[in-house]
Amino acid sequence: MKIHEYQGKEILREFSVPTPRGMACFNVEEAVAAAKQLGGNVWVVKAQIHAGGRGKGGGVKVAKSLDEVRQFASQILGMHLVTHQTGPEGQVVHRLLIEEGARIAREFYVGMVVDRGSQRVALLASSEGGMEIEEVAKHSPEKIHTVRIDPATGLNEAEAVRTARAIGIPDAAIAEAVKVLWGLYQAFVEKDAMLAEINPLVLTADNRVLALDAKFNFDSNALYRHPEIVALRDLDEEDPAEIEASKFDLSYIQLDGDIGCLVNGAGLAMATMDIIKLYGGSPANFLDVGGGASKEKVTEAFKLMLKNPHLKAILVNIFGGIMKCDVIAEGVVAAAREVHLAVPLVVRLEGTNVELGKKILAESGLPIISGNDMADAAQKVVAAAKGAK
Ligand code: ADP
Ligand code: MG
Repeated sequence: MKIHEYQGKEILREFSVPTPRGMACFNVEEAVAAAKQLGGNVWVVKAQIHAGGRGKGGGVKVAKSLDEVRQFASQILGMHLVTHQTGPEGQVVHRLLIEEGARIAREFYVGMVVDRGSQRVALLASSEGGMEIEEVAKHSPEKIHTVRIDPATGLNEAEAVRTARAIGIPDAAIAEAVKVLWGLYQAFVEKDAMLAEINPLVLTADNRVLALDAKFNFDSNALYRHPEIVALRDLDEEDPAEIEASKFDLSYIQLDGDIGCLVNGAGLAMATMDIIKLYGGSPANFLDVGGGASKEKVTEAFKLMLKNPHLKAILVNIFGGIMKCDVIAEGVVAAAREVHLAVPLVVRLEGTNVELGKKILAESGLPIISGNDMADAAQKVVAAAKGAK
């Protein structure tokens, strides 16, 4: 689960990481009032969306007067902000962060991720702040300094100092930089984050270290123990289909193809998307109905897929292990009837009671195309989707 920059900065402050002072705002008047209250004579007007690259997309503007704060706030609020992380339609801006402008001497990158290979939290730091770390990794990997942190000891002081030096923090600011790295590590561990990123971490003209940006992604499996994080959820930033899916305990991810996939089990769902691609098609979604899909769940799954205007055909690929094929077949038939299914439907069943399941489909009177195995089903659904164009 992602949160906004201003929420991330509140968490950083809790863990003693210095940030510029700022206030979240929902309209232009609030933005101007916030700037007045913060005082000073330079403010930064920042779009709050769950995507990076806002600066390049025109979502971060430096204002030198209250009039400019007003002007930029009205430009940015409501805009479709397009960045390399939003996709071409962009994301509508509903919130702003107004914060004091920092006098930047240098920009750095610091981030933490769970490194599955070493089963540790990895600290990544670089002298190349403000840029996309993926680009740095591609073109000058030697500029990324990595520490895989021992969970038994946590980030130790020597490692933190070495990291700060390695990226070029001057001696006068090493102690502050170490405090930032510790704070970031504590926040990461205590809040069960999967990613925590400060890009840029800046050195100011007077040798202070400040987090100018904050990005967090939390492990959704750990949210049950963090009601304070769940409270930060912003549904405006999430795909409506995915929100709907989570209500019915369906794992659903919208994709940009035209073949809907309804599958049980995440592994089989991945394999199904792969085989659709192999035969020249393109999946419209990832959808795992889980092990114990009821008729209601299958119906909701159909409804979700059908909301996608690009949908041309559906492939149901079920392995009946715990779940029996006849139960799933009944669910599919009932769901297809309830939603008045108008796109071609290919069903491939395998496993317990498969013959009975196939019989139910065949006798339903619905124009269901039966797939004998995965390859056959994938070829049939790709052909059906092409035919529907
Ligand atoms: P994004 O990463 O989404 O583009 P950032 O928060 O990193 O957004 O802002 C983009 C750039 O704007 C930063 O790299 C920094 O140079 C500048 N910036 C952001 N906040 C401030 C601030 N409070 N004071 C001065 N400059 C800022
Ligand atoms: Mg940034």
